Amino acid sequence: MTATAVTPALAPAHARRDACPRSHRGPGRAGARVGSRALVLCVLLTSCGTLPTDSHAYNPLGWPSKAFQSTGFVAADSGWPFVREFGRLLGAVGELLDAPALLVEGVATASPDTLGAGLRHTVFGSGSTLTAAYNLPCFVMPGRNIDLGRDAEVVNEALAFLETVDPAEFRLGDFDDRESVFPKGTRCRRSGENLIYTIPGRGEVLQSAESSIAFDWLNTLASTSFGAQERSWGFVVRTKAAWDERSRYRRAVTILHELCHQEQQMRQVFVGWNFAYWPAYMAPFPFTGHEGHWAEGGSALGANAVNRGLTRWFVRNWRREKSEQALRQDSQRDS
Ligand SMILES: [Zn+2]
Repeated sequence: MTATAVTPALAPAHARRDACPRSHRGPGRAGARVGSRALVLCVLLTSCGTLPTDSHAYNPLGWPSKAFQSTGFVAADSGWPFVREFGRLLGAVGELLDAPALLVEGVATASPDTLGAGLRHTVFGSGSTLTAAYNLPCFVMPGRNIDLGRDAEVVNEALAFLETVDPAEFRLGDFDDRESVFPKGTRCRRSGENLIYTIPGRGEVLQSAESSIAFDWLNTLASTSFGAQERSWGFVVRTKAAWDERSRYRRAVTILHELCHQEQQMRQVFVGWNFAYWPAYMAPFPFTGHEGHWAEGGSALGANAVNRGLTRWFVRNWRREKSEQALRQDSQRDS
């Protein structure tokens, strides 16, 4: 999250499932214990990341899954309320449907990895489907789609810059051994108001953003001023006006920070849209705060690596933009 704070006690039941609390208390011994347990959970889940992600293209048992997933992708990309939420549900059901295909394929080819992938799809596909089904009736809650598509070019500039940065510049500490924040070569393209990333070795990833009345209210109730909060399909912002006010460079940093939560954490570690992410996020938060949190600045998965890695790029472009604005104002005065 690029700054999100919700006090769970204040959160309405619907919003609580997506809420992230923030506290400024320092890390304590209990916090370290909870944090390390959450991290162990993440590492265990990450170790499943080497298993196959889908059944073989020639396995007919997997074809319904592929049909569901591709239809779900198109619907989720539509930007129409309910259709997009229904598309996310279709995608989750599609992943669950791949479980039997992978299990049969694993037995037929005597592949423990494929069997493991089948079990993983069963567990996480169920979680994703339940979560997506639970969210479907809440389609009335989010507001309008936010236009991320217009920033595709500047997001690609930022991605290219991140690849040129010395890893020491974005790493979050001695524990962080990442060579890159995203797989090298990751780029996006505009799809209406959404972005579609092509990620080497993983395929295409859709990122959307929506304004959220619930997120806006929760910020107000908790007297916080957080701008964006991750979702498995992208992120929410408080209002369209607040998002539009930001410079496009600031928007690009947030877009990639949230992509890190969405793709590197929710997808790669938690293997999809499931209910494990928020408990794992919320449990250590009261003890670690934002900076020390495993999802933000306290582990080799932290999304703050994006902000660190893009600091020079952002400052350079922000200064240039300000200079150009000043120059324009001067020349208007001259004419
Ligand atoms: Zn974050």
